[in-house]
Amino acid sequence: MPLETKLTKLLGIRVPVVQGGMQWVGVPKLVAAVSNAGGLGVITALTQPSPDALRKAIRETRTLTKYPFGVNITLLPSINPPDYEGYARAAVEEGVRIFETAGNNPGPLIKYFKSKGCIVIHKCTTIRHAKSAERHGVDCLSIDGFECAGHPGEEDIGGLVLLARAAQELKIPYIASGGIADGRGLASALALGASGVNMGTRFMCTVESPIHQNIKDKIVASSEQDTVHIFRTLHNTARVFKNGVAQQVVALERRPGGAKFEDVRELVSGQRGRLVYELGDPEHGIWSAGIVLGLIKDVPTCEELFGRIEREAEEAIDGLVRLRVPSSRAQAKL
Ligand code: NAD
Repeated sequence: MPLETKLTKLLGIRVPVVQGGMQWVGVPKLVAAVSNAGGLGVITALTQPSPDALRKAIRETRTLTKYPFGVNITLLPSINPPDYEGYARAAVEEGVRIFETAGNNPGPLIKYFKSKGCIVIHKCTTIRHAKSAERHGVDCLSIDGFECAGHPGEEDIGGLVLLARAAQELKIPYIASGGIADGRGLASALALGASGVNMGTRFMCTVESPIHQNIKDKIVASSEQDTVHIFRTLHNTARVFKNGVAQQVVALERRPGGAKFEDVRELVSGQRGRLVYELGDPEHGIWSAGIVLGLIKDVPTCEELFGRIEREAEEAIDGLVRLRVPSSRAQAKL
């Protein structure tokens, strides 16, 4: 039986699973595969070199799927600050109606999308920011726990408590992000009051993901112990794969006197990270990965992955229902 939630109704999708923004990964082929499999595929705007290139990516995605998909715009410190407004305008003009926003000071971007009648899912890592985005009029929050790949914020609150806090505090629907890679995760998120989940690292390791097979194999061979935080001392913490480059960055940050961004800039540049995925060399640069590395054991197609997630979530939910003892029997046991 399909899992119908506030999220599936809001977005017009079949399975309450969103593919979150991922630099160099959220490209048309993967986005369309996720949407065709029943979830929401999301194009990462900043992966495209210009707003015009984003227009082309949106058009290409439309040739690959007839189902809804979205666009992610993430506002974080950048070596070359992107033309966020240009990307946003291009996507709206191309008819995109679903946006995932994330990062710092998203208010003006949210206001723009809402003025154009779009649906906004805002990703954030604290309840304070979630409530602020709610006041800005977003439609859904993506509550990103400490387990996540990329930027977990600076407060280190795990998903379990963050989602339970979201249930206490938020009026609008929210989805669970960070630490989710399978149907058990989806069922747990629903139990915590979420209307669905966001997954990133899991989608990196699918047949349709654009990254090199060596990196997919590396993900499968890795465990939950294979990530590390960089940029902790620069207040822009990012969870990345624990390779030699990441450990070099951490060592520079830990030396007496610490490190300025300039000291690590060459090591961490996104362009260098992009080559990891192109060349298939996991040591070439920095690449994002969540601790769900420990849960990923194969490289399925998106369709296979969705089939499995739906089945596992239903089994987990049925298992919980079976745990309920009728009250007369419970009395007799006492
Ligand atoms: P980049 O080459 O501009 O920077 C590399 C990394 O250094 C990024 O994590 C960035 O946040 C960080 N950084 C840059 N300047 C900094 C500074 N002055 N202080 C502290 N940290 C700094 O990044 P990129 O890979 O080309 O990506 C472009 C933008 O997209 C960045 O803002 C990045 O954070 C963001 N991003 C988006 C997603 C997504 O899912 N949409 C994922 C990863 C990164």
